[in-house]
Amino acid sequence: MNNPIYLDNNATTAVAPEVFETMKPYFCEKYGNPSSIHRFGGSVAADVENARRQVAELLGATYRDKDDCATEIIFTSCGTESDNAAINAALCAMPERKKIVTTAVEHPAVLHYCEELTRRGYTVELIGVDGQGKLDMAALQNAVDENTAIVSAMWGNNETGTIFPVKEIAAIAHAKGALFHTDAVQAAGKVKIDVQDTGVDFLSISGHKLHAPKGVGALYIRRGIIFTALICGGHQERNRRGGTENVASIIGLGEACRIAKNMLATEYDYLKNMRDAFEQKLLASIPKIRINGDPANRLPGTSSVSFECIEGESILMLLDVFGICASSGSACTTGSLEPSHVLRAMGIPYSAAHGTIRFSLSRYNTMEELDFVAEKLPAIIARLREISPYWEAEK
Ligand code: PLP
Repeated sequence: MNNPIYLDNNATTAVAPEVFETMKPYFCEKYGNPSSIHRFGGSVAADVENARRQVAELLGATYRDKDDCATEIIFTSCGTESDNAAINAALCAMPERKKIVTTAVEHPAVLHYCEELTRRGYTVELIGVDGQGKLDMAALQNAVDENTAIVSAMWGNNETGTIFPVKEIAAIAHAKGALFHTDAVQAAGKVKIDVQDTGVDFLSISGHKLHAPKGVGALYIRRGIIFTALICGGHQERNRRGGTENVASIIGLGEACRIAKNMLATEYDYLKNMRDAFEQKLLASIPKIRINGDPANRLPGTSSVSFECIEGESILMLLDVFGICASSGSACTTGSLEPSHVLRAMGIPYSAAHGTIRFSLSRYNTMEELDFVAEKLPAIIARLREISPYWEAEK
């Protein structure tokens, strides 16, 4: 499709042209293996280290030099791997502790791995959220105990954008001697992250959510933590992640982080203003809708809107006719017609949860595009409600 109006940036983003340019030499010219002794490989290793520094700088991690074995960033294949690796490392670091505390609204990258861990004998406790997706901090406090190896709570939710108070959560984990991991896959590059200030022990990011390619991620590991690799093999990543580095993508991730850091404040305002104006237009022109998530603390480009009494999938199909791309619930859970686990955990009524669309923006969207969507939506919703038996009953 030519020039879609792409509002599905929480599913994946376009690779930034600058990122793509930076990656290009690493396919046919600078293709050496960073582990090689010769200078051809060595120069690539230096470039990988530069990317590591760029990632560290976006996250506020420390980076001394390439020979610093305790460097806090490792490269992985994706956000999912980073999440799995962090939880696995905590369980290995504290084998006497058998419990993981996480939240009911995590991405499957955490939730399904935790499910697998229950089959291996671990206990998993899921902390609930309120109607705005805010974490039940009292329940968290009660759940974390001396048997807890790790607390894993995301920085920003991929469906609603709700931001968790990671600093407070880290403090609760640490008070009981547990480690703290945060999945910042959706937050990185969109809100300021400072791993020092928040006291995070592990933090996951994924390239394709911040204008780097798919298939590359990174994990921040606080200096001093004993880290056991999830993927064992060669000595890459200082023995913390086996496998020859995906060099071009790592270079791309570094560049994407550098750009995101430089643009953070302006991009935050740009996305938030555009998102807020869009939501106001929808609220003014369409009855019986609700905006999901914490109104006071949301990722700037995420807008989850529930249109009562109709199916999200039908809305997506009619939006698609106009070249508008969005998603219902989460892209990762699309395929099942059940409302997503996030909306269910928030207690969104069934009739609203079913008609929920997530619009997620990037720096490449414009207000004109959103105006176009806001202009088309009222007729789409009215048309679907006309044939909805639930709407008929509601009237
Ligand atoms: N965590 C969150 C919050 C996500 O939104 C996603 C992807 O949608 C992931 C983890 C998984 O990242 P990846 O696709 O890089 O494995």
